Amino acid sequence: MTADYEAQLRAVSLRVTRPRLAVLAALHDHPHVDTDTVIDLVRTELPTVSHQAVYDVLRALTEARLVRRIQPAGATARYESRVRDNHHHVVCRSCGAIADVDCAVGHAPCLTASDDHGFVIDEAEVVYWGTCPDCASSD
Ligand SMILES: [Zn+2]
Ligand SMILES: [Zn+2]
Repeated sequence: MTADYEAQLRAVSLRVTRPRLAVLAALHDHPHVDTDTVIDLVRTELPTVSHQAVYDVLRALTEARLVRRIQPAGATARYESRVRDNHHHVVCRSCGAIADVDCAVGHAPCLTASDDHGFVIDEAEVVYWGTCPDCASSD
């Protein structure tokens, strides 16, 4: 697995560092976590890593599109390493749980605008909102 993350970093011309590898591994195992959780996860492997170092890694990986930053309305930013497949998310209004929803079309934009106003549209951001099974059963 580590070799795979090294190859991902090299493919986008990012230097291979232990914090970068640790963040990629953490997001692979724990998709849709917020920054604080990423820091906690990385620290189980690299106890001395600073908050700032993790912020910097997340920014660099997001800019390089190895990591996707998602921010449902009213929620803190979350990160995931599943990129490039235009998948969507379903978000629980009660607890904020997030799950992946495969794009029915498979490519962006997967909705056709009724009027594009002359824009070249390259993405339709779809978020499904609802109640997760845990919250629905604890009513
Ligand atoms: Zn919930
Ligand atoms: Zn996702």
